[in-house]
Amino acid sequence: MTVFSLGGTIASTSDGRSAAGGVTPRLGARELVEAVPQIQEVAELEAVAFRQTASGDLTLPDLVALAAEITRRFEQGVHGVVVTQGTDTIEETSFALDLLVASDRPVVVTGAMRNPTLAGPDGPANLLAAVQVAAAPSAVGLGTLVVFNDEVHAARFVRKTHTSSPATFRSVTVGPVGWIVEGRPRIAFRLPALAGVPYRVAEGAVPPVALLTSALGDDSRLVGHVAASGYSGLVLEAFGGGHVPAHVVPALEELAARLPVVLASRTGGGEVLRQTYGFPGSERDLLSRGLVPAGFLDGRKARILLSILLASGRDLDGVRTAFDEVNDSVSLPDTAPAAR
Ligand code: ASP
Repeated sequence: MTVFSLGGTIASTSDGRSAAGGVTPRLGARELVEAVPQIQEVAELEAVAFRQTASGDLTLPDLVALAAEITRRFEQGVHGVVVTQGTDTIEETSFALDLLVASDRPVVVTGAMRNPTLAGPDGPANLLAAVQVAAAPSAVGLGTLVVFNDEVHAARFVRKTHTSSPATFRSVTVGPVGWIVEGRPRIAFRLPALAGVPYRVAEGAVPPVALLTSALGDDSRLVGHVAASGYSGLVLEAFGGGHVPAHVVPALEELAARLPVVLASRTGGGEVLRQTYGFPGSERDLLSRGLVPAGFLDGRKARILLSILLASGRDLDGVRTAFDEVNDSVSLPDTAPAAR
């Protein structure tokens, strides 16, 4: 097994001279692993300090490079990989790895909310649990997972929901796919991996995608500046099931004729609707004007997918198909709605 460290709270300590300056990422994968002797009983590990940063400084090119390293390890016979990083962006990085690593072998992302200088740091327990899941045969074929606070979450659904609680990670739409009890991972239900969708992204070449959120009374004037600002696409987190004020519709239609515009919901759970409401600015109205439905992907995850699709050269049809494929990954064939 390989553990890649990227920084974050799990790796953050003070410089030892004074507590006044706050903690910063300093510990690498080897130090993190050595602090948890129980890990040796689970797996033989290679420890790789891949980045040392706050997770808001990670970029998609970093993740493309990490996915290449992970893929190389899997080709060399490594059974599973654990990634430690800051929690602030785990919901995006884990989904990017889900899309970029085309393997059935487990990739598990974890971190910590309480840094090692505090009472009751959660990093060691989270790391041990992540290694236990990555070593488990039941984790094969599940796609990228986030293991945190003794729960197992699918990268497609998980979100950070609290600024400081160790129970910050939640999957509002589906719940955790499993948990860890007495060191044993229990997988309660299986989501098929996304590995069937091939993405080939050159390191360094990721077109910029904007993310905007609808808000009551906002005139959405930024929509009119997206193309001129050099963005290659837009993800719009609309109200509820996918709704915007009626007066925003012309600007969105105009933009959708030039760039992929993806319609997500700002609610953080469920799916954008497709065929319920008919008022101006409703989901039916917006989809009929060329917006692409994000399905169950929230705005941040939809932005990761759109970025990767544009980086791999997909056109608008390719973008549409890929959003459908990711959403269909959790439909059982015999329960899928009939094609219209
Ligand atoms: N608060 C963050 C963390 O949990 C900092 C970061 O994301 O790097 O690690």
